[in-house]
Amino acid sequence: MVTIGLALGAQRMLKRRALIRKLPAVETLGSVTVICSDKTGTLTENLMTVTVLDVMGERQAIETLVRKQVPVLDAELRPAARPQVRSLGLLMRAAALCNDASLDLADVDGDRYRVIGDPTEGALVLAAARLGFVRPELDQRWPRCAEIPFTSERKRMTTVHKTNVSPDQTDVPWRDAYCVAFCKGSLDGLIEISSQVWAGNEAVALTDELRQRIQVAHDRLAQEGQRVLGVAFRPLPDQPEEANEAELEREMTFVGLIGMMDPPRAEVKEAVATSKMAGIRPVMITGDHPLTAQHVARELNIASNERSLTGRELAGMSVQELQDQVQVVSVYARTSPEHKLKIVQALQDQGHIVAMTGDGVNDAPALKRADIGVAMGITGTDVAKEAADMVLLDDNFATIVAAVEEGRIIYDNIRKFIKYTMTSNAGEILVMLLAPFLGMPLPLLPLQILWVNLVTDGLPGLAMTIEPAERDTMRRPPHRPQESIFGRGLGQDILWVGLLMALISLGIGFWGWGNGHPGWQTMVFITLTLSQLGNALALRSDRDSLFSIGLLSNKAMLGTVALTLLLQLLVVYVPFLQEIFETQALPLDTLILSLVLSTGVFWALELKKWLVRRWGPA
Ligand code: ADP
Ligand code: MG
Repeated sequence: MVTIGLALGAQRMLKRRALIRKLPAVETLGSVTVICSDKTGTLTENLMTVTVLDVMGERQAIETLVRKQVPVLDAELRPAARPQVRSLGLLMRAAALCNDASLDLADVDGDRYRVIGDPTEGALVLAAARLGFVRPELDQRWPRCAEIPFTSERKRMTTVHKTNVSPDQTDVPWRDAYCVAFCKGSLDGLIEISSQVWAGNEAVALTDELRQRIQVAHDRLAQEGQRVLGVAFRPLPDQPEEANEAELEREMTFVGLIGMMDPPRAEVKEAVATSKMAGIRPVMITGDHPLTAQHVARELNIASNERSLTGRELAGMSVQELQDQVQVVSVYARTSPEHKLKIVQALQDQGHIVAMTGDGVNDAPALKRADIGVAMGITGTDVAKEAADMVLLDDNFATIVAAVEEGRIIYDNIRKFIKYTMTSNAGEILVMLLAPFLGMPLPLLPLQILWVNLVTDGLPGLAMTIEPAERDTMRRPPHRPQESIFGRGLGQDILWVGLLMALISLGIGFWGWGNGHPGWQTMVFITLTLSQLGNALALRSDRDSLFSIGLLSNKAMLGTVALTLLLQLLVVYVPFLQEIFETQALPLDTLILSLVLSTGVFWALELKKWLVRRWGPA
């Protein structure tokens, strides 16, 4: 039944766009205390749009530079749309060339071409096109001959292009060079490998003052929540033998900054609020700059404080320091995948149950280590999916929270089922055990015991696994993972409900037996079976009464209860079944007495819930 419950739960999660790869994860999800989530694409839309260009002494919103929304590839329009400031053109051309995305010219969505490739790069290609610099044309003029790809560790990429292909090189600063290298990436790294700045007509030395100015411009953009990329170039006297970092990424000439916006996903704010209410701490992990990360975190209400840690800071910490920090810090910026592993470990050492998202190959160790590894279904690599327990079909943070909710429902239902079978079986055992002490003969025959087990544990138990959420599923803290399955009063319930059930069933039998009623065993048989149905109905909610959650809110349960009742009557009243089960048809008055007494367990449980609601802990 537990396995069926987990499997049905996995199915419900799939309907909510969470694919479970490992069945036990369904249960673990219910006890998650921290969700570590990527920012880009999971908390945000991953719909990057370039909004601002910033070069020496010039900051321009991109809207002011384009005449038309559309990147129309109309030859006549293009020159008119070209930005007047040469540096801005240089910036966008470099960004579009040092780039692996392209426009899908066959697919125009309204007034926009769709992009193929990474959204960050796509945004750059699109922006360049809107300024009149179209990718295929640029590639023809400056064909790429070498590259150092982007990685989340380096946070930049470099490409090398030939400059000698086209005679028309007058409008670019690398006109005399044989090749040119372009680099784009996070400013912190880029400024370290730059020694000059392009000042519109010439390259000037990168002084501390200029560095300062660029940093201020960068921070202003990042504070608005923009992802900021820097762009630099370096003319090369000859074509490099091989593309290596030390050779190419030095003495660059810095050109400018590009700010791009990636709006938070609409549903995430509410999901963050839900998870907080449910006692789960959301944590943001991103490769972006701390200012950008903090802005988004603030917008989504992720952190209760303004603290953040960078990958570099946390790499330098001792195990103890990190364990202290992860308790209070909810925003991690400028991280690489290996930092995720450290964060998971530190949280786990503090007793947390951690869900961790990831998409790249390098995220796999962190996903494996996390209690719930969550891979992205759309942008995720196969390696990440292999390592994960769960895959988000829509890459959305809100889906993790939905899966947690389902996990909690399933955990609750498994507990209810266990409570149900344990109380019912305790009742049966006690009936058999206590009868001799009252001087009675065997109260139930073996076949009858089998029947009770079969009809009561089977069908109502199954219906219990699909019980819908309780009112407070996402309003209470996660259950403690070390908690015993018999914890929270389950053990006591088994004892007293079992005892009550046995006393009622045995009581009516004792009365019948004492009065020489030939059907006294049948009375025990009926009363015991039906008591369990009352038990099942009352156990549907831990707190609320059956009348407030409604009989119809679990139709399967109502159906199985009705069916079991019918079967029980058949066993007692159909002659050939009477022979098999050795039952006796009861006269109407004793039947009614059995039916009435068998509701005793139900009323007792409802009374207990009422007492708890009234005087119990909130
Ligand atoms: P995230 O974890 O938010 O996805 P990434 O590791 O992808 O962050 O990116 C980290 C940083 O690397 C970004 O802030 C940006 O400065 C830079 N970056 C991202 N994508 C690219 C790219 N395609 N080319 C160059 N630099 C990039
Ligand atoms: Mg990324």
